[in-house]
Amino acid sequence: MKNLFILLALLFIAGCAGSQKINIERQFSSAQAELIMSADSAKIMRVLSVYNKKDSLLLRTKSEDAIPDSNNAVLQRLIKRMYTTVNDSLTLGVGIAAPQVGILKNIIWVQRYDKPGYPFEVYFNPKITKYTKKKLKWIEGCLSVPGKRDTTTTRSYAILLEYLRPDNTHQIEMIEGFTAIIFQHEIDHLNGILYLDRIK
Ligand code: ZN
Repeated sequence: MKNLFILLALLFIAGCAGSQKINIERQFSSAQAELIMSADSAKIMRVLSVYNKKDSLLLRTKSEDAIPDSNNAVLQRLIKRMYTTVNDSLTLGVGIAAPQVGILKNIIWVQRYDKPGYPFEVYFNPKITKYTKKKLKWIEGCLSVPGKRDTTTTRSYAILLEYLRPDNTHQIEMIEGFTAIIFQHEIDHLNGILYLDRIK
Protein backbone atom coordinates (compact mmCIF):
# COMPACT_ATOMS: atom_id res chain seq x y z
CA MET A 1 0.00 0.00 0.00
CA LYS A 2 2.80 2.40 0.95
CA ASN A 3 4.66 1.50 -2.27
CA LEU A 4 1.52 2.18 -4.29
CA PHE A 5 1.24 5.63 -2.70
CA ILE A 6 4.87 6.44 -3.57
CA LEU A 7 4.29 5.23 -7.13
CA LEU A 8 1.19 7.43 -7.48
CA ALA A 9 3.11 10.41 -6.06
CA LEU A 10 5.95 9.85 -8.55
CA LEU A 11 3.46 9.58 -11.43
CA PHE A 12 1.85 12.84 -10.28
CA ILE A 13 5.23 14.64 -10.25
CA ALA A 14 6.12 13.19 -13.65
CA GLY A 15 2.71 14.29 -14.96
CA CYS A 16 3.25 17.86 -13.75
CA ALA A 17 6.72 18.07 -15.27
CA GLY A 18 5.36 16.69 -18.53
CA SER A 19 2.45 19.10 -18.75
CA GLN A 20 4.72 22.06 -17.97
CA LYS A 21 7.05 21.05 -20.78
CA ILE A 22 4.16 20.80 -23.23
CA ASN A 23 2.81 24.14 -22.01
CA ILE A 24 6.10 25.95 -22.66
CA GLU A 25 6.50 24.45 -26.10
CA ARG A 26 2.83 24.51 -27.07
CA GLN A 27 2.35 25.36 -30.76
CA PHE A 28 6.03 24.58 -31.39
CA SER A 29 8.07 21.45 -31.87
CA SER A 30 11.12 21.01 -29.61
CA ALA A 31 13.39 21.89 -32.54
CA GLN A 32 11.43 25.07 -33.29
CA ALA A 33 11.39 26.08 -29.60
CA GLU A 34 15.12 25.45 -29.35
CA LEU A 35 15.86 27.62 -32.39
CA ILE A 36 13.64 30.46 -31.15
CA MET A 37 14.94 30.39 -27.55
CA SER A 38 18.61 30.05 -28.56
CA ALA A 39 19.10 33.83 -28.12
CA ASP A 40 17.35 36.78 -26.50
CA SER A 41 14.84 39.14 -28.16
CA ALA A 42 17.50 41.65 -29.24
CA LYS A 43 19.27 39.03 -31.37
CA ILE A 44 18.38 38.57 -35.02
CA MET A 45 17.48 35.13 -36.37
CA ARG A 46 19.23 33.68 -39.38
CA VAL A 47 17.24 34.52 -42.53
CA LEU A 48 16.86 31.54 -44.84
CA SER A 49 18.28 32.07 -48.33
CA VAL A 50 16.86 30.84 -51.61
CA TYR A 51 20.46 30.13 -52.68
CA ASN A 52 20.82 27.44 -49.97
CA LYS A 53 19.23 24.13 -51.03
CA LYS A 54 17.91 23.13 -47.59
CA ASP A 55 16.63 26.66 -46.88
CA SER A 56 15.01 26.83 -50.30
CA LEU A 57 13.01 23.65 -49.62
CA LEU A 58 11.69 25.10 -46.37
CA LEU A 59 10.87 28.42 -48.07
CA ARG A 60 8.75 26.41 -50.53
CA THR A 61 6.70 24.77 -47.75
CA LYS A 62 3.27 25.97 -46.62
CA SER A 63 3.06 27.27 -43.05
CA GLU A 64 0.39 26.42 -40.50
CA ASP A 65 -1.86 28.69 -38.45
CA ALA A 66 -0.67 30.05 -35.12
CA ILE A 67 -2.63 30.97 -31.98
CA PRO A 68 -1.97 34.44 -30.55
CA ASP A 69 -1.03 33.90 -26.88
CA SER A 70 0.63 36.54 -24.72
CA ASN A 71 1.51 33.84 -22.14
CA ASN A 72 3.45 31.67 -24.59
CA ALA A 73 7.10 32.59 -23.99
CA VAL A 74 8.32 30.86 -27.14
CA LEU A 75 5.77 32.63 -29.32
CA GLN A 76 6.56 36.01 -27.76
CA ARG A 77 10.30 35.46 -28.28
CA LEU A 78 9.69 34.49 -31.92
CA ILE A 79 7.66 37.64 -32.58
CA LYS A 80 10.27 39.89 -30.96
CA ARG A 81 13.18 38.23 -32.73
CA MET A 82 11.38 38.48 -36.09
CA TYR A 83 10.96 42.21 -35.41
CA THR A 84 14.66 42.54 -34.55
CA THR A 85 15.52 40.65 -37.73
CA VAL A 86 13.40 42.76 -40.10
CA ASN A 87 14.85 45.91 -38.50
CA ASP A 88 18.44 44.73 -38.86
CA SER A 89 20.44 47.72 -40.07
CA LEU A 90 22.28 45.59 -42.63
CA THR A 91 19.16 44.57 -44.55
CA LEU A 92 16.34 46.95 -43.54
CA GLY A 93 13.28 45.01 -44.67
CA VAL A 94 9.70 46.30 -44.87
CA GLY A 95 8.21 42.94 -43.92
CA ILE A 96 9.12 39.44 -42.77
CA ALA A 97 7.33 36.09 -42.58
CA ALA A 98 8.03 33.39 -39.96
CA PRO A 99 9.13 30.77 -42.56
CA GLN A 100 11.98 33.14 -43.51
CA VAL A 101 13.49 32.51 -40.08
CA GLY A 102 12.81 28.78 -40.34
CA ILE A 103 9.50 28.60 -38.46
CA LEU A 104 6.56 27.35 -40.54
CA LYS A 105 3.86 29.43 -38.83
CA ASN A 106 1.42 31.94 -40.31
CA ILE A 107 2.92 35.02 -38.66
CA ILE A 108 4.16 38.16 -40.46
CA TRP A 109 5.44 41.63 -39.64
CA VAL A 110 4.55 44.39 -42.11
CA GLN A 111 5.61 48.03 -42.12
CA ARG A 112 2.42 50.06 -42.56
CA TYR A 113 3.28 52.72 -45.10
CA ASP A 114 -0.40 53.68 -45.08
CA LYS A 115 -0.27 54.79 -41.42
CA PRO A 116 1.39 57.87 -39.87
CA GLY A 117 4.95 57.14 -38.72
CA TYR A 118 5.04 53.89 -40.78
CA PRO A 119 4.75 51.50 -37.79
CA PHE A 120 5.65 47.82 -37.97
CA GLU A 121 2.71 45.58 -37.02
CA VAL A 122 2.46 41.83 -36.43
CA TYR A 123 -0.33 39.70 -37.95
CA PHE A 124 -1.45 36.16 -37.20
CA ASN A 125 -2.97 33.89 -39.86
CA PRO A 126 -3.41 36.65 -42.48
CA LYS A 127 -5.54 35.63 -45.47
CA ILE A 128 -6.39 37.65 -48.56
CA THR A 129 -10.06 37.15 -49.39
CA LYS A 130 -10.39 39.62 -52.29
CA TYR A 131 -8.07 41.17 -54.86
CA THR A 132 -8.79 44.16 -57.09
CA LYS A 133 -8.48 43.68 -60.83
CA LYS A 134 -6.58 46.95 -60.88
CA LYS A 135 -2.85 46.17 -60.80
CA LEU A 136 0.25 47.95 -59.62
CA LYS A 137 3.81 47.44 -60.83
CA TRP A 138 6.50 47.57 -58.20
CA ILE A 139 10.18 46.75 -57.82
CA GLU A 140 10.37 44.07 -55.16
CA GLY A 141 13.15 42.67 -53.06
CA CYS A 142 13.27 39.94 -50.43
CA LEU A 143 15.47 39.21 -47.40
CA SER A 144 15.60 35.59 -48.59
CA VAL A 145 16.86 36.62 -52.04
CA PRO A 146 19.89 38.68 -50.99
CA GLY A 147 21.62 41.01 -53.41
CA LYS A 148 18.70 41.31 -55.84
CA ARG A 149 16.48 44.41 -55.85
CA ASP A 150 15.69 45.07 -59.48
CA THR A 151 12.74 42.82 -60.25
CA THR A 152 9.44 44.36 -61.32
CA THR A 153 6.32 42.46 -60.28
CA THR A 154 2.64 43.06 -60.94
CA ARG A 155 0.39 42.85 -57.88
CA SER A 156 -3.19 43.78 -57.08
CA TYR A 157 -3.60 47.44 -56.21
CA ALA A 158 -5.82 46.65 -53.21
CA ILE A 159 -6.73 43.59 -51.13
CA LEU A 160 -9.27 42.56 -48.52
CA LEU A 161 -7.32 41.13 -45.61
CA GLU A 162 -8.48 38.95 -42.70
CA TYR A 163 -6.25 38.26 -39.73
CA LEU A 164 -5.97 37.87 -35.97
CA ARG A 165 -4.42 40.60 -33.86
CA PRO A 166 -1.93 39.70 -31.10
CA ASP A 167 -4.86 39.93 -28.62
CA ASN A 168 -6.67 37.21 -30.65
CA THR A 169 -9.37 39.54 -32.03
CA HIS A 170 -10.47 38.97 -35.61
CA GLN A 171 -10.05 41.81 -38.07
CA ILE A 172 -11.06 42.49 -41.69
CA GLU A 173 -9.34 45.37 -43.43
CA MET A 174 -8.99 46.85 -46.91
CA ILE A 175 -5.38 47.69 -47.78
CA GLU A 176 -4.14 49.68 -50.77
CA GLY A 177 -0.97 50.67 -52.57
CA PHE A 178 2.57 49.82 -51.47
CA THR A 179 1.36 48.36 -48.15
CA ALA A 180 -0.94 45.98 -50.08
CA ILE A 181 2.08 44.82 -52.08
CA ILE A 182 4.02 44.10 -48.88
CA PHE A 183 1.10 42.03 -47.56
CA GLN A 184 0.83 40.09 -50.83
CA HIS A 185 4.59 39.41 -50.73
CA GLU A 186 4.60 38.24 -47.07
CA ILE A 187 1.45 36.12 -47.39
CA ASP A 188 3.01 34.45 -50.44
CA HIS A 189 5.84 33.35 -48.10
CA LEU A 190 3.27 31.62 -45.86
CA ASN A 191 2.11 29.66 -48.91
CA GLY A 192 5.63 28.69 -49.94
CA ILE A 193 5.72 31.20 -52.83
CA LEU A 194 8.56 33.63 -53.56
CA TYR A 195 8.14 36.85 -55.52
CA LEU A 196 10.47 35.45 -58.17
CA ASP A 197 7.68 32.93 -58.98
CA ARG A 198 5.39 35.86 -59.86
CA ILE A 199 7.58 37.11 -62.70
CA LYS A 200 6.18 36.34 -66.10
ZN1 ZN B 1 10.31 38.02 -48.96
